[in-house]
Amino acid sequence: MSRDDLQQFHDQQRHAYETLQKAGLALDITRGKPSAEQLDLSNELLALPGRDDYRAAGVDTRNYGGGTGLPAIREIFADLVGVPADQLLAGDNASLSMMHDTIVWSLLHGTPDSPRPWSAEEKVRFICPSPGYDRHFTICEHYGIEMVAVDMLEDGPDLEAVRELVKDPLVKGMWLVPTYANPTGAVVSEAVAAELAAMETAAPDFRVFWDNAYAVHHLTEERVKSADILGLATASGHPNRPLVFASTSKITFAGAGVSFFGGSPENVAWYLKHAAVRAIGPDKVNQLRHAEFLGDADGVLAHMDRHRAILAPKFAAVQEILSDRLGGLGIAEWTQPKGGYFVSLEVPDGTATRVVQLAKEAGIALTPAGAAFPYGKDPRDRQIRIAPSFPPLEELRAAMEGLCTCVLLAAAEKAVG
Ligand code: PMP
Repeated sequence: MSRDDLQQFHDQQRHAYETLQKAGLALDITRGKPSAEQLDLSNELLALPGRDDYRAAGVDTRNYGGGTGLPAIREIFADLVGVPADQLLAGDNASLSMMHDTIVWSLLHGTPDSPRPWSAEEKVRFICPSPGYDRHFTICEHYGIEMVAVDMLEDGPDLEAVRELVKDPLVKGMWLVPTYANPTGAVVSEAVAAELAAMETAAPDFRVFWDNAYAVHHLTEERVKSADILGLATASGHPNRPLVFASTSKITFAGAGVSFFGGSPENVAWYLKHAAVRAIGPDKVNQLRHAEFLGDADGVLAHMDRHRAILAPKFAAVQEILSDRLGGLGIAEWTQPKGGYFVSLEVPDGTATRVVQLAKEAGIALTPAGAAFPYGKDPRDRQIRIAPSFPPLEELRAAMEGLCTCVLLAAAEKAVG
């Protein structure tokens, strides 16, 4: 564009933005929460297990004990998350708590393979595929674990960078959301998983935090299967490397689901030993009602189809509006996930913070720019996370239109300088 054309383009975008501001919107596409309509799909849970139905295979679920969780719920999820039922523990309502505890116990006591507690090392470093899940990074920051970003590619983390980093014995672990990653929707391929399982690491106690939060959260007819990290790691002589996490937070109730921890028998015994100090068993009543409600693995998949019916039109609207408004201009790129909860939008370098600020001033709340990177710093200030699940479709459409207006204005401002 000529200088005059650019100025004209900028003035048009400024005008569009002022119109947007006058609309006085109050919209929110920040966090990946299920909508009320999705939560309603599981309302039967509220009447389960029923006042006379609190026994599960002879166990009185109302009482203390049963640290491994109820066998019935572990069996339902074993295949879905790729961990044998006897190596899969069922816990309370948040897998994030399990990840948090695993880190804290590793810092204070070390893992079964640690020469000493992680906190006795001069430093602990974690590999953080980015953009990634902000709450993983918050745990690291909170406990002084130094984060090293590597690029999250379409088939998983940049392996070349990972291979270099694990030569450092202080690199003790890495985060990974293997299926429909938060926020890019990437799926770790079997080949990448095999390499992560097999690679040599300087730390004998290197751990892959395999957070399979979206294992069954398909948005298309294709049910993408997660790589079998536990089988791969066991086959290549590193059975203790993967720690598998999952939950029903986005299957049933986000605040009242069941979480899962899986791993080698040695890791499971280690986890149980520490968990037994923390609680006298998990909420088995909740586990029982989940087992009754979901029935079996097919029941989970059928239930996820009902979520998909609600979510897919929202994701389609996001794609449609991004294409209509930003397509073909060469200023933005975005992901087209086949599952999960997010779309990742990349705007011109140096403008993401400005886009989020413009959106805020127009009444549209977005996740802060940089949140998906360690320490909240996107080195290129270009990534924005879109969470389509929570708002009703019409509100989502309005928020997306507004967001595109902000992207265009920020890009125009950058171009005119
Ligand atoms: N992991 C990822 C990748 C997530 O996106 C989320 C939810 N936003 C969680 C974990 C949280 O899971 P939970 O509710 O089981 O703590």
